[in-house]
Amino acid sequence: MFNKILIANRGEIALRIHRACKEMGIETVAIHSTADAHAMHVRMADESVCVGPPPAGQSYLSIPNLIAACEITGAEAIHPGYGFLSENANFVQIVEDHGLTFIGPSSEHIRLMGDKITAIDTMKKLGVPCVPGSGGGVPSVEEAIRIANEIGYPVIVKATAGGGGRGMKVARSDAEMETAFGSARSEAKAAFGNDEVYLEKYLEKPRHIEVQVFGDGKGGAVHLGERDCSLQRRHQKVLEEAPSPAIDAKTRARIGKTCAEAIGRIRYSGAGTIEFLYEDGEFYFIEMNTRLQVEHPVTEAIYDVDLVQEQIRVAAGKKMSFTQEDLVPNGHAIECRINAEKLPNFQPSPGRVRTYYAPGGLGVRMDSAVYDGYVIPPYYDSLVGKLIVHARNRELALARLRRALRELVIDGIDTTTPLFHALLDEPDIQAGRYNIHWLEKWLAQEG
Ligand code: ADP
Repeated sequence: MFNKILIANRGEIALRIHRACKEMGIETVAIHSTADAHAMHVRMADESVCVGPPPAGQSYLSIPNLIAACEITGAEAIHPGYGFLSENANFVQIVEDHGLTFIGPSSEHIRLMGDKITAIDTMKKLGVPCVPGSGGGVPSVEEAIRIANEIGYPVIVKATAGGGGRGMKVARSDAEMETAFGSARSEAKAAFGNDEVYLEKYLEKPRHIEVQVFGDGKGGAVHLGERDCSLQRRHQKVLEEAPSPAIDAKTRARIGKTCAEAIGRIRYSGAGTIEFLYEDGEFYFIEMNTRLQVEHPVTEAIYDVDLVQEQIRVAAGKKMSFTQEDLVPNGHAIECRINAEKLPNFQPSPGRVRTYYAPGGLGVRMDSAVYDGYVIPPYYDSLVGKLIVHARNRELALARLRRALRELVIDGIDTTTPLFHALLDEPDIQAGRYNIHWLEKWLAQEG
């Protein structure tokens, strides 16, 4: 097992990884920018290294500085968390070239899935159902119009290198395609430095269902059921739950088996998520994320596993600590992403947190790096905490969430907490009756 791991991230996920390491008897090294010198992840880690100025490009994303931090501290492995360098195949290659271990899949698998066209192509060959689409990059608007007429409108133009919901535009007619194509392309160019786009049939009322998978890198693979992440704003997840209110045990077993077999066949290593849109009883693959996801705690709650510890075990060449038969879900879990944003427009609200009080009690988990007096810097994402509840069934989980949200105090800045109070009063949320458009429509009505 590793003696020391460098955590190449910040915020709640850096703490999450630190906690897993400490329970395994592993020393931790935090990295931070000058803006994060007083951050909790730095305070908690055994050692810390400043890797640069506030802009992430010069600190958290600076590969030479991260490698140097490993060399200075003697860290043997790097856990990337999510975001930043977690899905950067080039980084993985450099880490390995320096005799260090990347805690995650191989650079080949990251590259394969990071390009959405090769990902779809691979999944198709592995027997995973996909959305009807162009099946490759579309070079011109004329070509886009031709293919859209073949697939049938509405279609969605998506960036091959996409992520974070950027570079996506819906077109419902040839006229709309004229503008959608160009704007998706320029958005993709600006966000990813790659303007290649492809087309998919636009599904009108799907749920976003994703399957958590885990591979040992030698062909062994399991699934840990699904998460329902249909509550989204601007293609960004807001609340996630497991299991999905729309999936029964038989459906779970079937799609889970398809996913586990697919990643087993490519000898995938570590944690991964296969994302689907789910409509009228059918699954349509959209992308695979080759990292730990923000919403992984809901899966941990119902399967009683520690996914980060499992990632570390497998990266160290050990066997997975569970088989498919061991993985029996129990109860229901819900996560709320609490962002430092001001409602109703969700503008970022960085600044000093006067008072922070985390909810507690049975079945409540609060993953946050905030503390009294902490100043949220304006340079990074706005996630300030994840509130996760777990209970015997969905109804009890909702009651527990309502209770825990009332206990939560984050004073001094604006957060999205009031949004969740309001959502819990909605009959559709109480009944689990929502698709990927529900939240946007509701927000438009609520004004
Ligand atoms: P990203 O990598 O940017 O997150 P995804 O491919 O995962 O992009 O899609 C993000 C979200 O966009 C999905 O959860 C869904 O809400 C919407 N979306 C993507 N593809 C389609 C589609 N073919 N039809 C309808 N909605 C889609």
